[in-house]
Amino acid sequence: MSRVRTGLGLALAIGLMAGPAAAQPPPGAKFEPLVAPNTTVKVSPHVWVIPDRSTPLVPNIGIIVGSKAALVVDTGLGERNGAVALAEARKAAPGRALYLVTTHVHPEHDLGAGAFPPETKLIRSRAEVAEIADTGLTMANRFSQMSPLNAELLQGATFRKADIVFDKSYDLDLGGLTVRIVAVGPNHTAGDTVTWVPADKVLFSGDVAMKGQPAFASPKSNLAHWLSALDTLDALKPAIVVPSHGPVGGPEFISGYRAYLTAIRDRARMLKAQGKSVDETVAAISAELKDRYPDTGRLAGAIRAAYAES
Ligand SMILES: [Zn+2]
Repeated sequence: MSRVRTGLGLALAIGLMAGPAAAQPPPGAKFEPLVAPNTTVKVSPHVWVIPDRSTPLVPNIGIIVGSKAALVVDTGLGERNGAVALAEARKAAPGRALYLVTTHVHPEHDLGAGAFPPETKLIRSRAEVAEIADTGLTMANRFSQMSPLNAELLQGATFRKADIVFDKSYDLDLGGLTVRIVAVGPNHTAGDTVTWVPADKVLFSGDVAMKGQPAFASPKSNLAHWLSALDTLDALKPAIVVPSHGPVGGPEFISGYRAYLTAIRDRARMLKAQGKSVDETVAAISAELKDRYPDTGRLAGAIRAAYAES
C-alpha cells in the first residue's frame, strides 16, 4: 500500500509539474513532436514513464518492467522518436526481452515501432489490425503535411506487423509480473487498447481517459460504447492513470470523462426529441459547455456522436 501511495504521490507531482508551464501551446504555436531523452520517471515499483510534457503529437510512453521482460507502451512519432523510447527502455530494463503495445494506431503512438529491434514482439488487438487495414497511412500523410519536421520524422514509416494478435484481452508474463492488455474500442479509435499493471495498480488508459477532452477521431467512435469502456476501466480500480497525453493522474480522469459524456448524451437526446437539427444541437450544447470545456472541436465531435446515437 505504501509503495503504491509513494507512486501515486510521484504521479501527482508529475501532474502538477505538467501544469501551466507545460500546457498545450495555442494553435499555430511552434512545437516539436519529439520524445525527450533522459526525462524518464518511475511512477511505481514496476512502471516508468517518459512524460509527453503536454507537447502535441508526443505521447506519454510507458515502460513496464518484469524480471525477464519489459513492455513498452507507445512509440513516439516515427523512428527517430522510437529510438529514444527504445534507449529509455534499455536503461529502465537492461537485458530484458522487449514487448511493444500501442494504445491505438495513430502515428505518434505507433509509427516509431520500426526503431525497435526485430526480436521485439509487437502485440496488437484484432481491432487495431483491422483499423490499419482500413485507414493505412492516411493520418500519417496528413501529419506529414503539417510541418517539414513531421514529414522528416515520418519519412518511410510503415506499420509494423504484429507478432501477437488478441481479440478481447491478453495476459503477458514479464517475469514475476503479469500485465493485462485489453481491447476497449471503439472510443477515440476503433482499436483503442488499455494496459493494466495489477501489482502496481497502474493503468495506461490511452486516449480513453485523460485530463484533456476526449476526441471522437474515428467514424466508428461511439459515445455509448465509450461509457461502457469507462465501466471497464473503473472496475480495475486504478490508483495511477497514465493517459496517452497530458499529466499523469488517477481515477478522476475516468469520472471526468463519464460526467462529460453523460452530460452531452442527455442534452443531445433532449434536444433531438424536441426536433432540433444536429447543427442546432451542436450550437446549443457547445454554448452551454464551452466555458468548462474550451475545445469546441472536440465538443462538436462528441455532440454529433451523441445526436447520431440518440
Ligand atoms: Zn489518437
